[in-house]
Amino acid sequence: MSAATDPRLYDLDDLRERAERENGGVVDESIPQLADADPDLLGIALVTVGGHIVRSAQSDARFSIQSAVKPFLFALALHDTGGEALDRVGIEPTGEAFDAIKLETGTGRPPNPMVNAGALLTASLVDGDDADARTERILAGLSAFAGRDLRFDEEVADEEHVLGDRNHALAHLMRAEGTLRVGADEAVAVYARACAVMVDAVDLATMGATLANGGRNPVIGERVVSAAIARDVVSVMATCGVYDGSGRWMREVGVPAKSSVSGAIVLSAPGVLGAAVISPPLDERGTSVRGHAVSDALSRDLGLHAFGTLR
Ligand code: GLN
Repeated sequence: MSAATDPRLYDLDDLRERAERENGGVVDESIPQLADADPDLLGIALVTVGGHIVRSAQSDARFSIQSAVKPFLFALALHDTGGEALDRVGIEPTGEAFDAIKLETGTGRPPNPMVNAGALLTASLVDGDDADARTERILAGLSAFAGRDLRFDEEVADEEHVLGDRNHALAHLMRAEGTLRVGADEAVAVYARACAVMVDAVDLATMGATLANGGRNPVIGERVVSAAIARDVVSVMATCGVYDGSGRWMREVGVPAKSSVSGAIVLSAPGVLGAAVISPPLDERGTSVRGHAVSDALSRDLGLHAFGTLR
């Protein structure tokens, strides 16, 4: 396939078969539901800013969104705080793992919204007076990004809440610094529910496409956040979305993205498309091995690299 091919004509089943030759990686075992994931699951979807959907086999398989929710939590926090969220969370890459117990030196803020500390904080900033109200707000917001009513899996959320010791530690540390202003346990509960939202590859690609389309869902035509917020979010995905692998990702793939422990990756190529891949085996930085291979191929075949000159 040549560069700058029309994404609407892209054969995702052919790409899927090529990516199946890529082996390696291990499925996350932090909670039983993730440990039980099918390592052979591989689903891919593209949604163009014109609202055209392209899907592969298994693009309708459901999985918990996990950290791929973080860009959207950041977007909702920016929206609901009228931009104040930008004062409450940093935007610098950490070069460390997603759950590092570390805050920004001097400010006590989370380093960026794409690591756990940051997402615990952004989830606390959306509208709502208590955990249930904030959960409802997050579900409504994520559903608008996806163009479909999304729900969270209670068992996944409970396991994440109980087993997320590092998240509890981060929440308490941010309480001690005065940067988290809701209860620590409440913050972890809401974040755990956000991570437990169930999506398929088409949902996640639509969410990425909404960011790529300046904040308006291109499938249902509804505005979710402003163009300025979408630009802020995609910028931070580009610098921080793949944790300590963000630099390598940007050089190789060149498309702003967010990885997650479920093996999902959401990509957002502004003005062009959103994409999503689900394949559970992860590399040592927590990025889906086949998801990375698929992203490489999409970038190359469709000329999506932000700093390339093919498009
Ligand atoms: N639920 C996971 C956690 O907080 C999400 C992390 C991830 O996907 N990288 O530990």
